[in-house]
Amino acid sequence: MSLLPVGEALARLLDSAAAETPRAVEQIALSEALGRVLATSVQAKCDVPPWDNSAMDGFALHSTDIPLACAQGLPISQRITAGMAPGPLVPGTCARIFTGAPLPQGADTVEMQENVEVDATGRARFLQPLRPGQNVRPRGQDIIAGTTLFDAGHLLLPQDMGVIASVGVSSVQVSAPLRVAILSTGDELVEPGTPLGGGQIYNSNRYTLLGAVERLGQQVVDAGILPDEPAATRQRLEQLSQQADVILTSGGVSVGEADYLGQALREHGEVDLWKLAIKPGKPFTLGRFAGTPVLGLPGNPAASLVTYLLLVKPYLLRRLGCQAVKPQSVPVPASFSWNKPGSRDEYLRAHLGTAGIELTGNQSSGILSTASRAQGLVLVPAGTQVQPGQPLSYFPFTGLLG
Ligand code: AMP
Ligand code: MG
Repeated sequence: MSLLPVGEALARLLDSAAAETPRAVEQIALSEALGRVLATSVQAKCDVPPWDNSAMDGFALHSTDIPLACAQGLPISQRITAGMAPGPLVPGTCARIFTGAPLPQGADTVEMQENVEVDATGRARFLQPLRPGQNVRPRGQDIIAGTTLFDAGHLLLPQDMGVIASVGVSSVQVSAPLRVAILSTGDELVEPGTPLGGGQIYNSNRYTLLGAVERLGQQVVDAGILPDEPAATRQRLEQLSQQADVILTSGGVSVGEADYLGQALREHGEVDLWKLAIKPGKPFTLGRFAGTPVLGLPGNPAASLVTYLLLVKPYLLRRLGCQAVKPQSVPVPASFSWNKPGSRDEYLRAHLGTAGIELTGNQSSGILSTASRAQGLVLVPAGTQVQPGQPLSYFPFTGLLG
């Protein structure tokens, strides 16, 4: 069986996500909306800024009075601070004004206070030539009322929250979160806090995946550890398919005799894709059990993390209606050599050094600590050798983790 290229696997995963029933729509307060995916577009309810205002602490005047302001100075007829609604400017005068305060009708120019001297008679003398219109932030400079700010499918970042607040919108419609079951498989697994018996290891994937899914703002159905046993596997999948919108599993999808997860899907559910041309992560599986999608991640901790970031996260986001889900990379020169061209695309744990991408150490799929030392993944495509200086695609975790 030939291995499926990662790009094709991702395309099929995204198609499968898009074919699921769309999420319900929830109306929530803007203050609760960080990290959620918009279900409907957001329009600007007002101009931003809503009126012409001063960009400086200084003096506002009309540009026709500039020659007079520089020659003899202008009387100061009013004082305007942020939050005031000023009356019109008396012609031939200027107004003391502060940053963010509305320009009075009849003023169109502001001089910063450092360039103005107020003399003993209270006149403001403008010390330098001014440019008409300077230091004014015009109404609608940032946003025009009625503009579509964000389309449905946009994932809300902190700056988006600010933009939406700036137009006075206090609630948004978002996709209901997914219930994501997380199930670790393996007789060898025990939870931290319990002493290790012979042959046992601590369940680390549960924590990595819980963290990743919680960070994505989804509801976790924490399904604990599943023993390597066929009947228990079927039973647990049956149960979780009732409780969750998607089941994430780790382990049990390789070709070993104790890999009952894959077996249960093949025999009692379905397998839509299996075995990818990716390292680490070859055993990744997309299947279905009792109607519920099952994303089978490899048991090896680094493989589990890498396939989550490159495949599962985009899948989950697409289920929420998000459009921009493909992992983003930037070209960065390598500062390492890689002499063993592989038969699979290899995603190495890496970070940015002064001369380019550096690897963080052991790249075996069972080693997780090098992922904690990394800031991203670097792609060495199948069949490629790498020399220092060669540009490679670097996927920063900040983008991958969202
Ligand atoms: P498997 O895919 O079940 O054959 O597991 C591959 C490797 O990953 C084995 O060495 C397992 O012990 C290890 N492994 C599986 N699940 C976990 C887990 N939840 N946490 C840490 N290591 C795991
Ligand atoms: Mg196992």
